[in-house]
Amino acid sequence: MSPVGSGSLESLRERNRRELLDTLRRRGSASRADLARLTGLSRSTVSTLVSELQASGLVVDHEPPADGRAPQQGRPPTLLTLDRSAGLVLGIDFGHEHVHVAIADLSRTILAERTHALDVDKSAAGALDVAVRLADEVIAAANVDADRILGAGVGLSGPIDVSAGTVHTGKILPGWAGVRPADELAARLGLRVHLDNDANLGALAEVTLGAGIGARDAMYLMVSGGVGAGLILGGELYRGSGGTAGELGHVLVDESGPICRCGNRGCLEMMAGGRAILALLRSSHGDDITLDDVMALVADGDSGARRAIADAGRILGRSVAAIVNAFNPELVIVGGAISAAGDVLLDPLQEAVHRYAIPSAAADVRITRGVLGDRAEVLGALELAARQSDVAVPSAIGGSATTAVKQQRGEAHR
Ligand SMILES: [Zn+2]
Repeated sequence: MSPVGSGSLESLRERNRRELLDTLRRRGSASRADLARLTGLSRSTVSTLVSELQASGLVVDHEPPADGRAPQQGRPPTLLTLDRSAGLVLGIDFGHEHVHVAIADLSRTILAERTHALDVDKSAAGALDVAVRLADEVIAAANVDADRILGAGVGLSGPIDVSAGTVHTGKILPGWAGVRPADELAARLGLRVHLDNDANLGALAEVTLGAGIGARDAMYLMVSGGVGAGLILGGELYRGSGGTAGELGHVLVDESGPICRCGNRGCLEMMAGGRAILALLRSSHGDDITLDDVMALVADGDSGARRAIADAGRILGRSVAAIVNAFNPELVIVGGAISAAGDVLLDPLQEAVHRYAIPSAAADVRITRGVLGDRAEVLGALELAARQSDVAVPSAIGGSATTAVKQQRGEAHR
């Protein structure tokens, strides 16, 4: 143990500084009162250390978001955040049909982002090449030093083995079998890489920045080409024993339904996912109809498109009711491309939950549309990277903090 004296006092201060920096990194922003509550340090200790960190330039004032989250009465407390010099994070979202890459600072402000449409499921090599190219582009567009990037969060539309950084072998993402996306990206980007399922990342983003801020028990239902879900239990992402919790798209809805890419029949996504909705509409609306077309038709009041979406909502609601019974969430957030249909999707979904869940669980749950839209997954990837990265505490506060912030690059996170 360290000797009693100025040395141990200094190490205590160092530990408290690290605690404050880590709390700001995990939260993105916080008031001094939040920091005292979250770290258990006294208000005066927080004040003193924050002043030192501000003088060093590592901590700066953060403008409160102009979205009504600030208190209604009185002057809102000053929010603090880490300065851009404390580090940046990269987020990569592989959807079924696009790659979306963004770079942000630790206040979660996006500095640049790019998307590229391609068939991600078919070829891992092609998708990884695009991701690396887009990463280079956002780093250049943000005009930042790549050495300042602390890590990358990566989302993929499939069952993920989080500890191995791989896709579970099976038929869901055949083009990714045998690929180690986390290791591959870590090597090519020279960054720590944290891989997770894209619906899990959407869930993380919506309860951190979106429609469910502060929710302890929530479910994020992603309805796009396929169907996925992310579960937040006790305020944390619930991944299950092997990382595949929330694979709601492949629960059975109709045993005699069409064969699914997973090998089963009549899975939820075969009955209510985007591809199923398009299949329903082809005979009446033409073979080349896209999900964007369907959303535009719904907005225009097209009765066939509205019927297809409403029927999907009803089918989704039955499966959501089972989750509501099993986990008793306070909130279900509906995201993904098809959530743009709004109440046309949500009303029948909600009706089905109230019809099929037990009344007490149905009464507890609020069903709402996500507010982050098609950025939810990439924002979740940035959030994951920010939470998992380390900010090194400058050894001597008061000097040039930016030169003392160490980087850890070139090591894959397992
Ligand atoms: Zn399936």
